[in-house]
Amino acid sequence: MVHSPKTDYEVIVIGAGVAGIYQIKRLIDMGIKATVLEASGDLGGTWYNNRYPGARFDSESYTYGYSFSKEVLDEWHWRERFSSQPENLRYLNFVADKFSLRDHMQFNCKVEAAHFVENSNIWQLRVNDGRTLTCRFVIMAIGLLSQSTLPKLDGMDDFKGASFHTYYWPHDGIDLTGKKVGIIGTGATAIQIIPVIAEEVEELYVFQRRPNWSAPLNNSEISEAEMTDIRTRYDDIFEACNQSPGGFVHRPDRRSFYEVSREERLALWDKLYDEPGFGIWLSNFREIFMDEKANAEFSDYIADRIRQRVKDPDTADKLIPKDHGFGVQRVPLETNYFEAYNKENVHLVDIQEDPLQRVTESGLRTAAHDYDLDVIIYSTGFDAMSGAFDHIDIRGVGGDKLKDKWFEAPATFLGMMIHGYPNLLMPNGPQSGSASTNYPRGIECGVNWLMDLLAYMRDHDYIRAEPTKMAEQEWTAEVVEMYKIMLMRKAKSWFTGYNSNVEGHEAGHIRHLVYNGGAPKYMARLRTVAASGYGGIEFEGEPADPQEKPLQSTA
Ligand code: NAP
Repeated sequence: MVHSPKTDYEVIVIGAGVAGIYQIKRLIDMGIKATVLEASGDLGGTWYNNRYPGARFDSESYTYGYSFSKEVLDEWHWRERFSSQPENLRYLNFVADKFSLRDHMQFNCKVEAAHFVENSNIWQLRVNDGRTLTCRFVIMAIGLLSQSTLPKLDGMDDFKGASFHTYYWPHDGIDLTGKKVGIIGTGATAIQIIPVIAEEVEELYVFQRRPNWSAPLNNSEISEAEMTDIRTRYDDIFEACNQSPGGFVHRPDRRSFYEVSREERLALWDKLYDEPGFGIWLSNFREIFMDEKANAEFSDYIADRIRQRVKDPDTADKLIPKDHGFGVQRVPLETNYFEAYNKENVHLVDIQEDPLQRVTESGLRTAAHDYDLDVIIYSTGFDAMSGAFDHIDIRGVGGDKLKDKWFEAPATFLGMMIHGYPNLLMPNGPQSGSASTNYPRGIECGVNWLMDLLAYMRDHDYIRAEPTKMAEQEWTAEVVEMYKIMLMRKAKSWFTGYNSNVEGHEAGHIRHLVYNGGAPKYMARLRTVAASGYGGIEFEGEPADPQEKPLQSTA
C-alpha cells in the first residue's frame, strides 16, 4: 500500500496555451481539482507571446480551432483563411471566457522546479512567487517552441537602440517608421516579418546565414457565407484532418512521382503553388520527402519560381537554399517575401560570405562592414520541444534530472510519459504526434488520451502510472527508425534537434524529437495501447486511507 497524503491539487497543468486551455477544460469537466500555472501575464501561449508583425497561422484557421465544442464552432467566425495573431489570441480568450477557464488559471507563475516525492507519489512544484505546491499529477503543456534562443554575439548588451527576440516583440508595439532595422535569421518567423516591416522602415538589413525554402500562403478573407458553409462541414473537416498524415486538410497525391510525366508533375506544382496553405508541401508526391532525385527536381522548380519573383539574379541566387531540398524541414509560408527584396530599402546580407562579428553600440559589425541600426530583431528561433523542459528543474525517481536524461536526446513513451518520472504527463511532448502535425489536432488527441488514462486510473483506484523502461525504449526506437527513411534527417532544423546557439544541440548529432508516422498511425497506436489496458505502463494501487479517492472531486 502506498501512503497518499492530501495535495494542494490533484492535477497541476503547467502552461495556459492552446494545450493548457483544453487540458483544464477537460479536467474541470471530469470534476478533478486542478489549476493551471502560467509564467506569462495571461493565457494564449505562443499567441500571447509572438506579437511580431505578420504573425499568423500556417494551418487553415478552421482546422486550427478546437473541435470539442459545437457552441464554439457555431459562434466563432474565422475572418481569414490563415488568421493573424491578434485574432488568434481573441479566439483563445473567447474559448476561455465562455467556459470560465480563467478561474482555474494563475498567471505570472513560473514553475522553477518539479520534484517527485517517492514515498508519497506526489509532485512538489516550486513557483517563482515563493510557493511550493503539491499535486498527484503534473501535466506539461509548456509548448513546442516556447524557449527562444539568442545568438552568442559579443556586445549584445552594448547596443544603444532597441533589440529583442521575436518571441518577446514589445506588447505595446514598436513604431519602425523611418527606422534603420536589422533582422538576424531567415526562418519561418522572419519570413513573416520581413515583407510587413519592409513597408515601414527606412532601411532593412536581413542578416541571412542559410536561406529557407518557402512558398506562398495565398491567404484570403472568409465571408459570412463561406463561414456558414464551413460550419456545416466541421465534422468532415476534422475527420479529414484525422485521416491525413499531417493533421491538415491537405492529403498527399496518390500517384507516384515516377508514374507520371514531367508535364503532369509541372501541372500539379503550378496548381499547388497558387493554392492556399501547405498543399505545395503536403499534397505533393510522397517521394518528395524520401527520394533525393524527386526532391531535387521539385526543389529546382521552386528555385525557378524564386528567380521569377526576385529581380536581382544575385539576390535570387542567395535566397535559394543549396544545402537542403524543399520540404525536408517545416516549410515557411510567405506573403510577398521574395518581392520584399525588390524594394530599394531592403538589403540581403549574406553572413556566410561576410560573417557577423559582433554587436556594437550603434548596430552590427560584419567582417567587412559596420551597419548603423536603430533596432535589432533577433529572429533566431527556439530550443525546440525539450528546451522548455530543460528550463525547469525536473527530478524524478532517485532525484534524477530530466535534463540529464534528455541531454543526448529525449526518450519517451508515446511522447506522453517518461520512465523514471511517474505521473508526469505530456499532451504534446517530444516524440508525440503533435509536433509534426497541425498542432491543435495533435493536442486534442493527446489531451483526450491522457483524460482517458486518468479516468482508467480513477476506476481502478490507481495513484501512480509510469511507463516501463522497455516500453520507452521501444517507442523511442520506433521514432528513431522513422527518421531513417525521411530526407529530413539530413536537414539542420529543429526537427532534428538542431540549434547552433544551444550547447549540445549544434549540427552533427540528430536529436529525435519528432514522431513522423503521421496522425492516423499515431492515433491508432494510442487506441491500441488504451484498449490493451495501457500495456507498457505500470500502475500502483490504491491509497492507504480508504476515505481518500485517488482523484479528488471538486463537486
Ligand atoms: P528557425 O526556423 O529556427 O529560424 C531561425 C533562423 O535564425 C535561421 O535562419 C537560423 O539560421 C538563424 N540563426 C539562428 N542562430 C543564428 C546565429 N547565431 N547567427 C545567425 N543566424 C542565426 O526559427 P523561427 O523562424 O522562429 O521558426 C521556428 C518554427 O516556428 C518554424 O519551423 C515553425 O514550426 C514555427 N513557426 C510557425 C509559424 C506559422 O506560420 N504558424 C510562423 C513562425 C514560426 P540557420 O538556418 O543557418 O541556423
